[in-house]
Amino acid sequence: MAVKIVRYEEPVFRPPSEALSLIVQATIGCSHNKCTFCGMYKGKKYRERDVGEVKEDLLMAREFYGDVKRLFLADGNALAMDTAKLLEIMDFANDLFNLERISAYATPIDLLEKSEEELTILRNAGLKLLYVGIESGDDEILKEIRKGVTSKQIVEGCKKAIRCGIDLSVTVITGLGGKKRMYENAKNTAKIINQIEPKYTAALTLIPVPGTTLYKKIEKGEFKLLNPVENLVELKWFVEGVECETIFRCNHASNYLPIGGNLPDEKESIIKAIEYAIKNPRILKPEFLRGL
Ligand code: SF4
Repeated sequence: MAVKIVRYEEPVFRPPSEALSLIVQATIGCSHNKCTFCGMYKGKKYRERDVGEVKEDLLMAREFYGDVKRLFLADGNALAMDTAKLLEIMDFANDLFNLERISAYATPIDLLEKSEEELTILRNAGLKLLYVGIESGDDEILKEIRKGVTSKQIVEGCKKAIRCGIDLSVTVITGLGGKKRMYENAKNTAKIINQIEPKYTAALTLIPVPGTTLYKKIEKGEFKLLNPVENLVELKWFVEGVECETIFRCNHASNYLPIGGNLPDEKESIIKAIEYAIKNPRILKPEFLRGL
């Protein structure tokens, strides 16, 4: 039997770039849990974990792994946790390990709800990177997917975190507006990326998840999914619209074409690669190899 190092309440999700980090759940589930396309935490009721339990997990990890450099606090939005409790966990982790970075998922709502003072305190305790699903910059789409915020609020929350010294890795989703709002999704999302100026921007491609509201809409014919080439056309429009400096990644399992580079410097080569794939769709990842 495998040794249980940290007690996890499965399923546990983490960003691809946290593959080598110690992952500890500070919270369980997602405090929002309403987005129509997302099935990640549908089986979990949101709660903050007992701080003592989290500390025990950290102690177990210390004993088993020794020192670690990176700590990722799960689940869906650990930033929603009460700031004093989060800080207690982070201080405890900093005493145990020589951490270079602590990171977590955050929703735009969490960024709006935390004050600049709270975010600065957390940053000073080592919270250097937040992964924020902004999904789209188009207000109609944001309303439709029940993100709970407008594009203006997303920009406000994200800029606040950056002002407090926290790097952001934001996620956008191509295809989220379906055929109806393909252009608006691309252009309005690029527009808010330019306002936020995040350090990292990751583009995912929509994959309908069975059981979600969006999936049901697709089944009823109320939402028309983009085909692979249309997704690339939307991606191209998005890349064309990004003018700010951001490290762009489109190498998620959901993407048809793994691609990336520094924007805007490498925009031309990224666009050329997308155009090549549009003309030669045989090079695209087959559906059965895509995932979330
Ligand atoms: S997309 Fe993010 S905020 Fe929305 S329900 Fe899923 S985990 Fe929660």
